Amino acid sequence: MKKAFITGILGQDGIHLTEFLLSKDYEVHGLINGQRNSNMNSFVVKFPSVKLHSGDLTDFSSLVRLIDLVHPHEVYNLAAISFVGMSFAQPELTANVTGLGALRVFEAVKTVDKESHIRIYQASSSEMFGKVTQVPQNESTRFHPRSPYGVAKVFAHYAAQNYREAYGMFISSGILFNHEGENRGYEFVTRKITSNVARIKLGKQPNFSLGSLHPKRDWGYAGDYVHAMWEMLQIGAPDDFIIATGEAHSIREFVECALIAAGLEPETEKYVTLDPAFIRPAEVDLLIGDATKAKEVLGWSPTKSFTELVGLMVENDLKLESQSKE
Ligand code: NDP
Ligand code: GDP
Repeated sequence: MKKAFITGILGQDGIHLTEFLLSKDYEVHGLINGQRNSNMNSFVVKFPSVKLHSGDLTDFSSLVRLIDLVHPHEVYNLAAISFVGMSFAQPELTANVTGLGALRVFEAVKTVDKESHIRIYQASSSEMFGKVTQVPQNESTRFHPRSPYGVAKVFAHYAAQNYREAYGMFISSGILFNHEGENRGYEFVTRKITSNVARIKLGKQPNFSLGSLHPKRDWGYAGDYVHAMWEMLQIGAPDDFIIATGEAHSIREFVECALIAAGLEPETEKYVTLDPAFIRPAEVDLLIGDATKAKEVLGWSPTKSFTELVGLMVENDLKLESQSKE
């Protein structure tokens, strides 16, 4: 039986990846930081066979101890300070967790696994492209990060390449474009929209605030994207892959689509006010990925359209909001 060790297992992608790996008969282990994570109880109930271990990406000794204890075949490094907005408020913490944390994972595997048998997936990000120099972005597009998060991910991405070249380690990096779903954090714009639209539909509030409506993202479904992570560790040699839908939509389009999915009129101005408090010091206006390489080498392609993605998120939030009294 193959063993996987997932950092960030209680996050959005960790939940989808756990489900996917269990369906492939993996023994799944996960790193959890702290004991108060609100996702923990539902995770344990949903996945009773998964073994959770306490540790932290800022604590090298905990990573060495756990890699040595579990001796996984595959490590998925998903843990990060992943919210761009927070990275502006806590840049040093972001560099430590999202950047140096990845390096600690690679170094811990190198320390324990002298023969380089363990395969590692590194969660790279389209935020590395930031102020884009090419549309759509592919594996050769130059990086120009626009946030402490993007800068930290560039560091981790280059560290992965360096450990590959210097030590012959198997580290594949997925440059994933924004992916969303039922488990997305409420601070991200998509979940913020679908949860607020659900509340409006149920008469709990009249409107909500966003920072802006013009930025465009290439939004896919997280459940599709974790398949690509696994595929990247099954190939002959480690590599970098763009994972994206190839379609970009504005936040305004997302709002309109969510309103329609909830059975409301798509009148954005009626329901959304603009609040400069949500505007970032530097913005990423457009991200759109070219996943041709992933399609050709991994046989990967997305299964959910933009409308289907928005629809499933709205439906999920309508269900959750109708169950809660607040
Ligand atoms: P989430 O924010 O949902 O999950 C990140 C996880 O990392 C959380 O469970 C968090 O735990 C954990 N974590 C944070 N700090 C530490 C730490 N110091 N030590 C150990 N664990 C820690 O992110 P996603 O699941 O959405 O994303 C997974 C990865 O993919 C991340 O690296 C993200 O940056 C990257 N990515 C995501 C994209 C997306 O659109 N979702 C796009 C491209 C890349 P806790 O909350 O308890 O602190
Ligand atoms: P990101 O692409 O990783 O930064 O994902 P987010 O979901 O946090 O943000 C996507 C885009 O929405 C970015 O360009 C944000 O600046 C923009 N945005 C506009 N208003 C808001 C808001 O109120 N909250 C968030 N999270 N993002 C917003």
